[in-house]
Amino acid sequence: MPSKVRLLSENVANMIAAGEVVERPASVVKELVENSLDAGASRVLVDVRTGGRKLISVVDNGSGMTPDDALLSLERHATSKISSEKDLFSVSSLGFRGEALPAIASVCRLSLRTAAKGSDHGTRIFAEGGTVKEVTEEAVPPGTQVEVADLFFNTPGRRKFLRSPETELTHIVETLTRLVLPKDGVFFRLRQEGKTLLQVAGTDDQPARIASLLGKDAGLGLNKLSWEGPHFRLEGFISGPETTRSSAGQLFVYCNGRFLRDRLITHAINTGYRGHVLKGRDPVVVLMIEIPPELVDVNVHPTKSEVRFRKPSGVYEGIVAAIDQTLRTRFGAPEATLGQTFEQAAGPSPPTAPHDAQEEKQRIEDAIHRFTTAHTSSLFRDPRQPSTKELDVAARADVGLAPQDVPDEEGAFSRMAIAGQIFNNYIVCETRDSKGMMVLIDAHAAHERILFEKLKKDYEDSAVAVQGQLMPITLELRRLEAAALKNSLPTLAKVGIEVENFGGDTFRITAIPAILSPGEAEGAVRECIEKKMETGQNAPMDSVIDKFLAVLACHSAVRSGQELTIAQMREILRGLDRVPNAGSCPHGRPTFWAVPLSEIEKRFKRR
Ligand code: ADP
Ligand code: MG
Repeated sequence: MPSKVRLLSENVANMIAAGEVVERPASVVKELVENSLDAGASRVLVDVRTGGRKLISVVDNGSGMTPDDALLSLERHATSKISSEKDLFSVSSLGFRGEALPAIASVCRLSLRTAAKGSDHGTRIFAEGGTVKEVTEEAVPPGTQVEVADLFFNTPGRRKFLRSPETELTHIVETLTRLVLPKDGVFFRLRQEGKTLLQVAGTDDQPARIASLLGKDAGLGLNKLSWEGPHFRLEGFISGPETTRSSAGQLFVYCNGRFLRDRLITHAINTGYRGHVLKGRDPVVVLMIEIPPELVDVNVHPTKSEVRFRKPSGVYEGIVAAIDQTLRTRFGAPEATLGQTFEQAAGPSPPTAPHDAQEEKQRIEDAIHRFTTAHTSSLFRDPRQPSTKELDVAARADVGLAPQDVPDEEGAFSRMAIAGQIFNNYIVCETRDSKGMMVLIDAHAAHERILFEKLKKDYEDSAVAVQGQLMPITLELRRLEAAALKNSLPTLAKVGIEVENFGGDTFRITAIPAILSPGEAEGAVRECIEKKMETGQNAPMDSVIDKFLAVLACHSAVRSGQELTIAQMREILRGLDRVPNAGSCPHGRPTFWAVPLSEIEKRFKRR
């Protein structure tokens, strides 16, 4: 029998590689711009025509190539960035596979003009469908220009998958935004048909770069994050509650300068934001992870958008803590919050959070009955009792134009004068320092935060009261779920949920904390399993408890629509001074809005 196995020709191998690396015009832009950055360019100009189908041109002022290198660069597995297996474990450049140029060349008409720094002549190479057609000496400014024309001209199958020029352009803009964001000091410009679509100055001013790439509103509200872990460092800018957007895709995470899409990290970010940001709205995050190259494996994906950390949990926990702490420092302490809001007070009004309260009402009422009476501040009525408005009338009647009550001396909120309550919810206050402000407080949201912190503290202080289940809850799990649960048993036990194996993949919940209903406990166990399977991490059990306490606090707090006495309002202000995270309710809605006097004066044309 004649032998059937044979080696593929170089060109076919390149086209196969192109199938992985060159999916669409944006992938070409990515590879070419990465090469420019690896070559140390401080200026990168990208020009496209018809969404990159007709032409993609990338011009840089980087190191350039000698004529020999230029020819070699089009050969498969030719790279200047690594030379041995050992180097694979300490890659610091964006490229290293030596695959991109030959792969791209195999599916287009490519012209490469390049001149090495300091040499007096340059080279021009023209290749078509991967075959070099022409090599000439040419006067070229130092640096490299690659022109990719008629992408996929020789692979009609691939061409068919291209979308409209607008869609392809959108991908190019996204790709460039990701690439450019962390490259301080590099000037970038993207044009289509001569029209500038994206331009970033070659400055080190990161907020300015972020603003020009992500929009002014993103740049304005970002808070600096800085964190030192045991083997890594985190730097970046993250949005506070007021600049979140409803669209996804605003996470820019980099590991040693390389853009990453990593579920574990996304999960860590969301966990860090828990309790700070509205559900269903995504924060804007630019996060740089700096870690010794030996501790990450970048060679796990052809487009290199995934990496493997040798110590995943350290990084995960670092991110959670860094985000939480940044938001706490910035939005948690009332003093800081007030000062900071002073600068941003004129921003758009905060969105309202969705409430899934209705269906859960009965469940909550039961839980409240079991838990709150003893814990709620005596000053506030049981939420189920009608408000005794009449009693408050006398106190309220005194409130004329001038605030009558006597403010406390301590604490940013306590020090404010109360002018009254409007729309049966918002407390109107006035600060009395030089930077005068009118401060509106959402009484319900504020009270929710205060109760939440109190419930949480009570919960943490008392050893978890566990009640045995007369009728154990049985869980029939799939094999993988069972394995995940087995690993989570100690974590669950810590919060008073006791689960035992009942043979095979069947488990029983035998004891649960007194504040949870059996259904909630089962929900908590299932959440734990899901987290474990999704991320390999044990669910931070606090999140389960937090969620529950947040609902509890929400239902025990003064209703919006409830009239308050001055004394009750004063109690809310004092409460805000006592709790961490005073700037937002447990669902992440803001608790107050400060309007600077200067803003008011501007409106009344006094300034
Ligand atoms: P890789 O980037 O993985 O090394 P490429 O196929 O993208 O592989 O590039 C091959 C080589 O060509 C690079 O290693 C580099 O030496 C050279 N090269 C490519 N583009 C440029 C450029 N814009 N400036 C200087 N050298 C370049
Ligand atoms: Mg490359």
